[in-house]
Amino acid sequence: MSVIGIDIGGTNIRIGHDCNGKLKDFVKISTKENLKEGKIVECLANIIKKYIGEYCKDEEIQQIAIGIPATLSADRKEILQVPNIKGMNNIRLGEELEKVLGIKVALERDVHMLYFWDKYEQKIADDGIGIGIYIGTGVGNAIFINGKPLAGKDGAAGELGHIPMIGGKEQCGCGNLGCSECYASGWKLVQIKDKCFPETTMNELFVKHSNSHILREYVDAIACVACSEINILNPDSIIFGGGVINMKGFPKELLEERLYVHARKPYPAENLDIKYSVDKPDNGVKGAIIFAKTLI
Ligand SMILES: [Zn+2]
Repeated sequence: MSVIGIDIGGTNIRIGHDCNGKLKDFVKISTKENLKEGKIVECLANIIKKYIGEYCKDEEIQQIAIGIPATLSADRKEILQVPNIKGMNNIRLGEELEKVLGIKVALERDVHMLYFWDKYEQKIADDGIGIGIYIGTGVGNAIFINGKPLAGKDGAAGELGHIPMIGGKEQCGCGNLGCSECYASGWKLVQIKDKCFPETTMNELFVKHSNSHILREYVDAIACVACSEINILNPDSIIFGGGVINMKGFPKELLEERLYVHARKPYPAENLDIKYSVDKPDNGVKGAIIFAKTLI
């Protein structure tokens, strides 16, 4: 008996299955080449069938869990809006795949799968409130209460990247103006690099310039955004992750200093439990497997 975890991203689809608590047969394929607009269910069903045929044909698959970079309905049945993959909106993907595969399929936001993994790896207890803040291209956010992801009335809870900043005028990818993502995301960091440090590679940006005024302001923006959630929830633990946080030379000390500055005193400021996620390509799949196992 086994479960399969799938992580669908704008660039890659990653798949793996569980073998006695270890990830086995991790596979990565291109999203663009394998998911065709108008045939999303058919394409995914074929990918899964092929994977099972190659790697787990002698096992009974009890559950599949799929992480999607999307807004999902509150009951996690329907994909409402995917910014980066064409043709995925308004599909009841789990149910459609179940019909074809005859295996139970559950959906969750990709960022929740990341948190499921981090929670396991960092041995975070289920009790209380845990938050994950993932600074990648955008600002990903997971809020877990007593071990379960918070979905909200419409499934749209945890949109920390779209907190409106007072006076913010920049255009956000979501259509609104002045969202926090316009100041604290990976795409903002690319803009800063192109404008202020065109000679420096992205890899070397913090190594060479983390003391510059503009990058210190950028790290402060991340802290500001994080504290808008920290001051509301007073979480038991905070995990920071994502590509930006994992960049070489990212100034974690400065981030923590600025978090303390913006957090309400004395609490939550005096008792912040800050952890860092190690960015690995299979984290989303491993998280999906952990989630799948909670369903059987
Ligand atoms: Zn926005």
